[in-house]
Amino acid sequence: SLVVTGATGHLGRLAVSALLAKGVPADQVLALGRDEERLAGLAALGVRTQRADYGDRASLDAAFAGAERVLFVSGSEVGNRLPQHHNVIAAAKDAGVQLLAYTSIANADTAGLTLAVEHKATEEAIVASGVPHTFLRNSWYLENYTDQLPTYLQHGAVLAAAGDGKVSAATRADFAEAAASALLAEQPAAVYELGGAGFTLAELAATVSEVTGQQVAYADVPAAELVATLTGAGVPQPFAEVLADADLGLARGDLYVAPTDLETLLGRPATSLADAVRAAV
Ligand code: NDP
Repeated sequence: SLVVTGATGHLGRLAVSALLAKGVPADQVLALGRDEERLAGLAALGVRTQRADYGDRASLDAAFAGAERVLFVSGSEVGNRLPQHHNVIAAAKDAGVQLLAYTSIANADTAGLTLAVEHKATEEAIVASGVPHTFLRNSWYLENYTDQLPTYLQHGAVLAAAGDGKVSAATRADFAEAAASALLAEQPAAVYELGGAGFTLAELAATVSEVTGQQVAYADVPAAELVATLTGAGVPQPFAEVLADADLGLARGDLYVAPTDLETLLGRPATSLADAVRAAV
């Protein structure tokens, strides 16, 4: 069977839907997560569901019994993910999983982002485990930006510390469809660097202006000022620091990749920034 971890989250649920859309029979898909209510929502799609916790090795052993291929969605508890991911990898190895597809981050082996540290270490642990694998190195979600549309419009500004760095953001739906393709591929690549057409945040602001008819400008500020503004608006300090650090990475090009791998897995160009903004308005 095909197992999707983190299926109760945004990306995982979209990946389950993509597998079904590609014709995988629902009873061959096992969707995992911790949240019972969201697991029930997945069961409504017809797939099998099971509770599994990355911190609970026995729950993973039970979930992976009989699994051929596993889409391993990276955990969301930044800073605590490595021991959790080690459990997932060890369980996949012991279950004899034939393909472990891990959702990593763009340029995981070279990126200087704080967020990349756990992804790089997870990739290394997967390689060391000997489990056949593919790395889905996802760039930023477009939703990281489109979810902020109300704030952009309210302030007439996209406030960030990314300079003129380009980000290869793509929608979660596109990353999920690509993940489903890779999971089903006869011979998936060892590494996919996944992202859409890259854009600067000045281009993001211009696109928002164009689509909404309201003037929004890019306001580039030093990272420390961004952290101060975000915490002043109620964002917890550690998260504000992760966001500022990501902007600095964006400025270095850490979240920029060629659009080729995503297009290959999708069999079409990724959803554009303008279309995503239009859909979000
Ligand atoms: P969500 O937060 O919507 O989903 C995270 C999923 O991971 C949920 O299904 C959650 O299950 C599961 N999960 C988290 N921790 C554990 C755990 N300890 N044991 C079992 N399951 C766990 O994130 P998205 O779907 O939007 O994104 C998927 C992943 O991509 C994130 O977890 C994160 O690693 C990464 N990410 C990437 C971003 C990007 O821009 N590229 C932005 C944000 C995150 P449940 O809560 O039901 O137990």
